[in-house]
Amino acid sequence: MNIKQNLNDITSQLPEHVTLVAVSKTKPVSDLMEAYQAGQRVFGENKIQEMVEKQEQMPKDIEWHMIGHVQRNKVKYMAEFVNLIHGVDSFKLLKEINKQAKKHDRIINCLLQIKIAEEDTKFGMSPADAKALMASKEVASLSNVCIIGVMGMATFTEDLNQIEEEFKRLKTTFENLKHLKTNNCELKTISMGMSGDFKLAIDCGSTMVRVGSSIFGARNQ
Ligand SMILES: *Cc1c(COP(=O)(O)O)cnc(C)c1O
Repeated sequence: MNIKQNLNDITSQLPEHVTLVAVSKTKPVSDLMEAYQAGQRVFGENKIQEMVEKQEQMPKDIEWHMIGHVQRNKVKYMAEFVNLIHGVDSFKLLKEINKQAKKHDRIINCLLQIKIAEEDTKFGMSPADAKALMASKEVASLSNVCIIGVMGMATFTEDLNQIEEEFKRLKTTFENLKHLKTNNCELKTISMGMSGDFKLAIDCGSTMVRVGSSIFGARNQ
């Protein structure tokens, strides 16, 4: 695996307004360092414990994104450094993030995870629930979180038409939420697209792609 080469291949395909999150879950720090040395500064992990361990060992100018499902009782472990939490799917979780961010005198950026896939295995809120959350007075009182956009995962399928439909559903949801911005945080991010479909995702309006195996190689787990 030539991580530097892979990174260059991918970044050369990204428009300027699209952020690349290098998804490094299960990979050793030496692989992440290779990406770092090639200039990558945004890394995504799906387990809090693993992200904490890597964060401790790596340079401090990295932006760490939590892209996996978040258990409320573990938010405290990452509250000191996490830059963006992609998978916020309830008010309770948002409230806990706010509480932990406050302890460190920080504002933590969050994305609302929207369920766009047909499968029921994927986490996320319905567009209607997201709208209700954004509009609620309670959310407006959470001064240590900032909702800056939405995140979605398409169905695991080869059917590109279906994936495209689901990506478009997320883009539409984003457009419908935009005017409900809270605490002066601008809604600007649409996190969608992975190794197999990031180009399609960008065509459908993605501003942030989460790419793992195309950079670091296949995962064992
Ligand atoms: C693992 C993972 C990715 C990256 O998947 P690849 O197919 O390896 O690019 C993206 N998003 C989430 C939420 C993931 O868990």
